[in-house]
Amino acid sequence: MQKTIISVKNLQKNYGTFEAVKGISFDVYEGEIFGLLGPNGAGKSTTLEIIETLRDKTGGQVMVDGMNLDNEPDNIKKIIGVQLQSSGFYPGLTLLELIHLFAGLYNRPVQPMELLKLVNLEDKAKSKYKELSGGQKQRFSIATTLINQPKIVFLDEPTTGLDPQARRNLWDLIKDIRLKGATVIITTHYMDEAEQLCDRIAILDEGKIIALASPDKLIDDLVATGFERPKQVKAANLEDVFISLTGKEIREE
Ligand code: ADP
Ligand code: MG
Repeated sequence: MQKTIISVKNLQKNYGTFEAVKGISFDVYEGEIFGLLGPNGAGKSTTLEIIETLRDKTGGQVMVDGMNLDNEPDNIKKIIGVQLQSSGFYPGLTLLELIHLFAGLYNRPVQPMELLKLVNLEDKAKSKYKELSGGQKQRFSIATTLINQPKIVFLDEPTTGLDPQARRNLWDLIKDIRLKGATVIITTHYMDEAEQLCDRIAILDEGKIIALASPDKLIDDLVATGFERPKQVKAANLEDVFISLTGKEIREE
């Protein structure tokens, strides 16, 4: 029996008269990587930001680690890590300075070099944030979500715009975070990524959940309807070719 760490019941969010989230319900289990998929505008970020206590809901109930969002938003904040958009960082500060700044905000002791090592940025400790490449910025922003040793980490499209090497490197990082015991909620537009990483996924469309299961189960269900891929599947795809030709190491400089 899995332990539920996030429980969302009949969540609704209206922006004016527009219903962005139309009464969705789902549970996230402790220790899993849970994916929220769906086309642009489906309501993924809205849903995450409500659970993260950053946005008000219109209706419904959200429980996070036994705490009701309505009563204990400040206690919820203490146990979650939220990936900030890059604009949240002072570009002229070094990574070490930024980590100290965040640690101060959270009032937590941190070991900055340990943290940077985790995301493969120990060489960049004294570089300014603005000097980092796209992949490095993403990795750094994930590192900052870990400063308060959160039980739950929220990642909203962490790999969008990254090259294949940086993307795979981030997959390893996300798997590491889970191995250390955290629960991860992630949104992505990359289906290969969801298939690789997620234990379960919810597919959101126009503010409603239209499917929720493990990737395997969703694929089996589709196949059971008689669906077949139009083309014979090859033993490799173009991304495999790319990675095999250009190597797995990250190239950012
Ligand atoms: P997703 O992350 O799945 O792309 P969002 O949650 O960002 O979707 O947005 C869901 C819908 O709500 C979209 O139609 C978006 O335009 C709308 N929306 C998001 N934020 C606001 C806002 N602050 N005011 C009005 N509409 C918004
Ligand atoms: Mg979004």
